[in-house]
Amino acid sequence: MESRYEAIAPTAWGLDVAGVATRLMGAGRAVALTFDACGGPGGHGYDAALLGFLRQEHIPATLFLNARWVDANPGVFRELAADPLFDIANHGTRHLPLSVRGQSAYGIGGTRNVGEVYDEVAGNAAKLFGLLGHRVRLFRSGTAHYDDVATRIVGDLGERVVGFEVNGDGGATFTPLQVTQAMRTVRPGSIVIAHMNHPSHGTAAGMRVALPVLRDAGYRFVQVADYLP
Ligand SMILES: [Zn+2]
Repeated sequence: MESRYEAIAPTAWGLDVAGVATRLMGAGRAVALTFDACGGPGGHGYDAALLGFLRQEHIPATLFLNARWVDANPGVFRELAADPLFDIANHGTRHLPLSVRGQSAYGIGGTRNVGEVYDEVAGNAAKLFGLLGHRVRLFRSGTAHYDDVATRIVGDLGERVVGFEVNGDGGATFTPLQVTQAMRTVRPGSIVIAHMNHPSHGTAAGMRVALPVLRDAGYRFVQVADYLP
């Protein structure tokens, strides 16, 4: 991996670079919900109200889990992994922006080289494989920032990079009202990002209002992995 990519300079950095899927393909009037669990200083919590609501309403979601969050929540992890409503995905080993040159996002320093990109993706992939007994298909980095060399490395490691079109909870900072306002921008094929590790913030209360509104408007909730371009 290092010999293949070490000499290649990235040409783009951000949330939406080459190799990042931000919308669904061929899904019709559908929306895909993704919830991140960041772990570490980003929060070890578990939003039981949010996940309970999804179950009650039979709404599927993709759960991007960081290795540190998994370590802190072994019982909840087993419960979520056993539920076919949820697709478990990779949210990194140390929750770092994914760069081959050490670029940072929101003040968080990114991976510094090809080897650190590999470790950030493959470390948690191996952990999840050991727990699930199958490989996960999708990856999202901490902060969801990438360069266009890093996204190629993720692809070589067998995972697709999933970004987003709708920021549903502003990094788990939104009030319930702000969540419902953000969710009004959903359109057919949107991928929504929000968080499942901040139970005291507005995500769950906002989604409880917003998701039934979308369903009444004719939207289906689908898994990202089934409709990637
Ligand atoms: Zn995160």
